Amino acid sequence: MNYLVYPLKVMNITQGYDGSLSHRQHNLGNPKDYPIDDNGASSKKDAYFYCPCDEMVIKKIYGVGTSAGNTLWLESTTKVTTPSFYDYVGIIIVHPNDADFKGLKVGQKFKRGEKIILEGDDGKATGYHFHMAVGRGKFLGTGWIKNSDGIWVIRTTEGAVKPQNAFFIDPDFTTVKNTGGIKFTYLQTKPEEFSVMYVTKSLNVRYGPGTNYQAINSLPAGTKVNVYATSDSWSRISEKEWVSHNFLTATKPRQVYETKVTTAEALNVRQTPNGLKVKEKSPLPNNTLVAVMATKGNWTKINTDRWVYSAYLA
Ligand SMILES: [Zn+2]
Repeated sequence: MNYLVYPLKVMNITQGYDGSLSHRQHNLGNPKDYPIDDNGASSKKDAYFYCPCDEMVIKKIYGVGTSAGNTLWLESTTKVTTPSFYDYVGIIIVHPNDADFKGLKVGQKFKRGEKIILEGDDGKATGYHFHMAVGRGKFLGTGWIKNSDGIWVIRTTEGAVKPQNAFFIDPDFTTVKNTGGIKFTYLQTKPEEFSVMYVTKSLNVRYGPGTNYQAINSLPAGTKVNVYATSDSWSRISEKEWVSHNFLTATKPRQVYETKVTTAEALNVRQTPNGLKVKEKSPLPNNTLVAVMATKGNWTKINTDRWVYSAYLA
């Protein structure tokens, strides 16, 4: 999974996005952004910004060799998974020093975990740190815009996002010293425990433990699922998919269907291979569990009269 994780080895946020200091104007004006300052472990110039997702590309470099604060625009080359959305992401980083931009150029790509640049104190910085702001989607126009308070803020297709809605903390990568009062979500590093069960009757899959939650798919009798948690009469079979526990059994049936997950953003379900689209529970959201009942050419049968294109399953 292409998670977006916090990009520093030590989190030491010295200014959040809604304090009384210089960041306040960033989210009082219109449009807003939600920057944080992080100086890594200490006031020394020793913290790097690491590529926080599978791949990022440099879209723009500004200010190097001038008195303006040096600024770097990074954009993910594919959609990333964050605690609140699945989309492209843009990050602007301010204050690295002129010398540390040496060798960096627009179009350059970085893989997850690679060092991109060292923190600095270029511009009006009071000490070595990164000033970072995140936007959902791709950069729009020049990648920033002067807001109604006269402050330059990040500009992306889907707008600025708060750091806790953008970054997970990977505890295997980042040591948390100071969150700046922001509540982040941690990536689960240990695999979750589960019990294997089987579906006894075609049942709805929902985004929560109750019939008030949206039904997004159905699984046929015989589907093998992993049950991670059970709450009242509902069982969680993935990070966010729930089914009624009344239609699950631990007894292995004669006919067992293994599952795959959808990789398309929205995957159409059809009545027959390459046939008419069904109206119910279609398209399937990204990362939905489906049963593999049969395959025919490039098509996979996921339930009675429900077929999807096999290339979008993994
Ligand atoms: Zn700042």
